[in-house]
Amino acid sequence: MNRFIEDEWKIIEDGFSPETNRFSESIFTLGNEHMGLRGFFEEQYTGDSLQGTYIAGVFYPDKTKVGWWKIGYPEFFAKVINSTNWIGIDIEINGTRLDLGKSRFKKFRRELDMKNACLTRSIIWMGEHGEEIAFEFSRFLSMAKKNIACISLSVRPINFKGILTILPYLNGDVRNEDANYKENFWRQINQGINNNTAWLTMETKKTGFHVCTAMSTDLIKLRTHPGISQDNLVKSAAAQALHVEKNKYVGYKFELPLQNGEEINFHKYVAVCSSRDFSKNELEKTTLHKLKAAKTRGYNELYREHQAETRKKWQASDITITGDLRAQQGIRYCIFQLIQTYTGRDSRLNLGPKGFSGEKYGGVVYWDTEAFCFPFYLYTNEKSAKNLLLYRYRHLEKAKENAAKLGLKGALYPMVTIDGQECHNEWEITFEEIHRNAAIAYAIYNYTRYTGDYSYLHQYGIKVLVELCRFWADRVTYNPQKDRYMILGVTGPNEYENNVNNNWYTNTMAAWTLEYTLDTLEKMTGQQMSGYAQLNNELQLTEGELAKWREIIQKMYYPYVEALEIFEQNDLYMDKEQNLVEDLPPTELPLNKHWSWDRILRSCFIKQADVVQGLYFLRDSFNPETIKRNFDFYEPRTVHESSLSPSIHSIVASRIGYKDKAYKLYLRTARLDLDNYNDDTDEGIHLTSMAGSWLAIVEGFAGVTIKKDILSLSPYLPPGWESYSFQLIFRGRSLQIMVVKEKIVIKMSAREELLIKVSGKEHLLQPEKTAWITRS
Ligand code: BGC
Repeated sequence: MNRFIEDEWKIIEDGFSPETNRFSESIFTLGNEHMGLRGFFEEQYTGDSLQGTYIAGVFYPDKTKVGWWKIGYPEFFAKVINSTNWIGIDIEINGTRLDLGKSRFKKFRRELDMKNACLTRSIIWMGEHGEEIAFEFSRFLSMAKKNIACISLSVRPINFKGILTILPYLNGDVRNEDANYKENFWRQINQGINNNTAWLTMETKKTGFHVCTAMSTDLIKLRTHPGISQDNLVKSAAAQALHVEKNKYVGYKFELPLQNGEEINFHKYVAVCSSRDFSKNELEKTTLHKLKAAKTRGYNELYREHQAETRKKWQASDITITGDLRAQQGIRYCIFQLIQTYTGRDSRLNLGPKGFSGEKYGGVVYWDTEAFCFPFYLYTNEKSAKNLLLYRYRHLEKAKENAAKLGLKGALYPMVTIDGQECHNEWEITFEEIHRNAAIAYAIYNYTRYTGDYSYLHQYGIKVLVELCRFWADRVTYNPQKDRYMILGVTGPNEYENNVNNNWYTNTMAAWTLEYTLDTLEKMTGQQMSGYAQLNNELQLTEGELAKWREIIQKMYYPYVEALEIFEQNDLYMDKEQNLVEDLPPTELPLNKHWSWDRILRSCFIKQADVVQGLYFLRDSFNPETIKRNFDFYEPRTVHESSLSPSIHSIVASRIGYKDKAYKLYLRTARLDLDNYNDDTDEGIHLTSMAGSWLAIVEGFAGVTIKKDILSLSPYLPPGWESYSFQLIFRGRSLQIMVVKEKIVIKMSAREELLIKVSGKEHLLQPEKTAWITRS
């Protein structure tokens, strides 16, 4: 579907389609890490819409709904919930509500300016007797001041004389569509309104978060007749407005006579603070104070600060592509959503598969963070990557409780969480998709090898790793006939097979975690690090325990298909009838919408990278022929019905020289939401897969990796691209890397030189110089 005009920096929707409004609302989601909202309208809209306003970390434990309860299931599913609607500005024209579900209008245009993180919408309202009024709304969520958002509305009569009413409001009477028991998640604490400010304080039931939302307005009526001086400017503030108060609702009502030659500029300032950041006693005072300070600065100044902060984010993470406008727009959209959903300012936060764009997945955290998103933050903003690691460290005790609940030692991180407790309740995922532990270990390894900063590993990471190892050591089963350790009853990343034995990926990553941990411990002992004795004491490691880990590594069982010289995805996978995706009738795809679950489980078709996911992570442990043979076998059986799948396959395809395949798979990820490829973007965007799209360029086309502490690249140009460039921050140096036809151009901002490898050859980059390197 091609709904948007192609543009380098903008997503433009020209013309309104009520049928696809939810889809557009997802696409036009804005956020600033602290809060976010879907792109729904300011004014009343009676057509189909999913109104979502979210505050990161403010959640409700919605009671779990299951048919058959199983011991170990979580009691609740945490949801980042729809909160006070602060965007609202109702409009009446001569007493009739403006409502694009009912009113006549023309020239509808929604425009997301990604460079400045600002959403604008314009329409021309049409009256019954040929009257017309042009409306333009703009909004931004300040990247500079996380508690502040601003909306501007300009109204210009084209052919109109009458009364215009503007009703800005805050409405705390909101619900989630996905409330399991149709409950309202909020209760009211307080509300107030005076001539300058209106505010609403709400509390989440059960979790007790307080959220105060406050608003203030500015209204300027301009006479725009030529020749009339600016002295005729009429300034009206909330003081001249009526106060509107209802239960959980505060607002103002401005009634303005309006005619041709006049124009109204209206600003709504909003502050949103929660008890996550401020004490409940001080919450209202703090919110009102922040709001006042923002209003004093004024819309334009706030916008400038927001712009400057957004530019900084782009400077660190932008990718430019020349020769392919669609690809350029696609990747910028991915980066845009990543930088506005998580900035790494707050280590208590993380990012969910849909960011702030919808209710599906409840804004909670999956293994997606470590497996797919982590490198994006690591390569562009080291501090945010460290905070993502700290997030899991903070949840270590709960991960231990989670393992204990299942009768196991060590730590099992939840499949889905917000505060460290498991929220997911499908036994085949909650209890069996335990490979998620390995992605957390891998992120620690990745952070350390990329940054060269061992402080996290030695202070925190090692504690996480040891508990992960204890889990694996308890979860394996020794098979005396085969003299091998096995991991039984699991689900691999491929969720189209459950309760399998010896998923190759899980076994491989478990053994790798044990190895990496042992290696780290040995190095720490060898270096006789200060504090090690205390750590040792805290961890209570015994020689016997370490010896057991070594034995498990040595005797781990890996299913293998001798005849094909490939790893077997899991025991008995080869007993399945072997078919290829290309032989499936297109009408049966996607399988999850056409086949019974039973048929899917019995088939050989794979949802997402599984063996290939392991080959992606541990590329240095396997030779290229092995990777190729496995890719050749598994990719044609993969339906890519998880949005996370094509990007990992694209990277591995790049690494083994399958350039066309890599590009084809890349195209499936980078515009997945803009083109509504999976026909489900109405439920929200696929944020975590967007990180995969970024990776498909940086690790795939450009071949970025770290080998023995050296940054290495093996870049190529995908078909049709004239050039592409991206940024990396590597060990205190900022690198701008551009890949052109036969060359790679690297500009380094740094004080010290840097040795890198390009296509296997060493190059010494000089500080503040540009290097032109011929690529082979
Ligand atoms: C994928 C999981 C993923 C989840 C959230 C599922 O469809 O199979 O791997 O964690 O979506 O993105």
